[in-house]
Amino acid sequence: MDKPQNHKNYLVNTNSKKIHLANSTDGRCKIESMRDEYKVYFDTLEEAMAYPSKERPLAKKCSFCLKN
Ligand SMILES: [Zn+2]
Repeated sequence: MDKPQNHKNYLVNTNSKKIHLANSTDGRCKIESMRDEYKVYFDTLEEAMAYPSKERPLAKKCSFCLKN
């Protein structure tokens, strides 16, 4: 059974304010221990970086799973 957000590629942790690859397996991203209430999923990096608005993006790219 697929979870509803399985097709989403990027994940914003609204607590740490970092954008991760949703399927990152890098332990430094700590996706496993992230609380669901802090997770927001996006299809594209552009969308993630324009959340909640382009002028005032909340999160920055994770330096472990999104190097550039
Ligand atoms: Zn990461």
